[in-house]
Amino acid sequence: MDHQKFNKLAEYVKDTTTFAAKKSSNLLELSKLTLETKNLGKNLKVVYIELGKLFYKANKDNKDKAENYRDYFNNVEETSKKIEHLNKKILKLKDMRLCKLCNKEISKNSVFCPACGGKL
Ligand SMILES: [Zn+2]
Repeated sequence: MDHQKFNKLAEYVKDTTTFAAKKSSNLLELSKLTLETKNLGKNLKVVYIELGKLFYKANKDNKDKAENYRDYFNNVEETSKKIEHLNKKILKLKDMRLCKLCNKEISKNSVFCPACGGKL
């Protein structure tokens, strides 16, 4: 192999190596950014949920405002009732009830609440 050909080959190898390294560092950066974006998206969802709860509490009795969000508000109320109903069924099946004083789950036959010590 003459000197000139060797130099060209060396240059070619150097270029492809740099290209591969760059590609792999891009992939790493890409997966980092994708993960970070996903995590921020999850955080944003939590913030939206908390914002929604605050908004609901602040506006559920405000008829003017509630009108624009009527479907959402109704959905919250209906779903909450369903959850409450299911929780009662679950408690019954578990032979448990809620303490009148602290609202903790306690045995149906308890005379005193093991959580708050209140007499039932
Ligand atoms: Zn209690």
